Amino acid sequence: MSAVAVQLDPQLLEILACPCPEHAPLKAGTASDPRADYLTCTSCGRSFPVREGIPVLLLDEAVEPTDG
Ligand SMILES: [Zn+2]
Repeated sequence: MSAVAVQLDPQLLEILACPCPEHAPLKAGTASDPRADYLTCTSCGRSFPVREGIPVLLLDEAVEPTDG
């Protein structure tokens, strides 16, 4: 059983894409915390906040990947 904090319609998650040039799909949570209220790009690794159930897919709001 997997529990995630982000309660998004899987179909919505499917059509959402990162605003980065790759327009890659997003997955729930962050790399370090899969239950965080964030969506993380599968390409660039940026994490976007989810506020009141609304994903904020703005590069200005993104959390840059911290590895390295
Ligand atoms: Zn991206």
